[in-house]
Amino acid sequence: MVLIEGGQKVLANFKPELSEYTLGALRRLGVEVELGAAVTSIDADGVVYGDKRIEANTIIWAAGVQASPAAKWLGVEPDRAGRVKVEPDMSVPGLPDVFVVGDTATIAMPDGKPVPGVGDAAKQSGRHAANVIKARLAGDSGAKPFRYKHAGDIATIGKRAAVIDFGWIQLKGWITGGHGDWPISIF
Ligand SMILES: Cc1cc2nc3c(=O)[nH]c(=O)nc-3n(C[C@H](O)[C@H](O)[C@H](O)COP(=O)(O)OP(=O)(O)OC[C@H]3O[C@@H](n4cnc5c(N)ncnc54)[C@H](O)[C@@H]3O)c2cc1C
Repeated sequence: MVLIEGGQKVLANFKPELSEYTLGALRRLGVEVELGAAVTSIDADGVVYGDKRIEANTIIWAAGVQASPAAKWLGVEPDRAGRVKVEPDMSVPGLPDVFVVGDTATIAMPDGKPVPGVGDAAKQSGRHAANVIKARLAGDSGAKPFRYKHAGDIATIGKRAAVIDFGWIQLKGWITGGHGDWPISIF
C-alpha cells in the first residue's frame, strides 16, 4: 500500500510529535508513505505524482471534498474548494438575510486559520446563525462574530493505534479493551 500525501507531513493539523508518530506507525504497518508530491493524474492503471508514476489496480482518492454549489447559486465568489466566504456573523457578503453554515461556508478563526470542516464546526456555526436570526427578530442587530471552539482531534491509524490531541493533553499509542495492556504515551 502506498500513501501519497501532497503536504510535507501526515496529519499536518496535529502537533509535530503526533504527526511523526503517525508516520512511523504507518510504516510499521507496511505502508509506503510518499510526502510532498501532489497527485496530478489518475487512470485505470495507475497514479502520477511529482515526476513519478505508480502502476496500481486499486486507487482510493481521499484528498478532500468539494462544497455544494451554493456560492454559484448565490452569485458570490467561492474559495478554492467552492465554499462561500461568509461574514463574521455567518451571513453572505452583500446578502445579509442569507446565512451559510457548515461545510459550505468558510470563515477564519482569530489566528487566521480556517475553521475546520468537521461536524462540531458545522453544529457550532449553525447554532451561531440561529442565534443571530433570533437576536435580529428581537430587534438586536449587533451580532457577535462567530467564534469556533475546537474540542480536539482524534485520528486512528489502522486498527490499534491512535493519536489524540485535546490541546491540554496529547496521547499516542494503542489501547486494548478487556484483557490488559494500555501502552499509551502521554506527553
Ligand atoms: C469521509 C468523511 C469522514 C469524516 N469524518 C469526520 C469525523 O470523524 N469527525 C468530524 O467531526 N467530521 C468528519 N467529517 C466532516 C463532517 O462530516 C462534516 O464537516 C459535516 O458533516 C458537515 O455538516 P454539514 O451539515 O455542513 O454538511 P453534511 O453533513 O454533508 O450535510 C449536507 C446534506 O445535504 C445533502 N445535500 C447536498 N446537496 C444537496 C442538494 N442539492 N439538495 C438537497 N440536499 C443536498 C447531502 O446529501 C447531505 O445529507 C468527515 C467527512 C467525510 C467526507
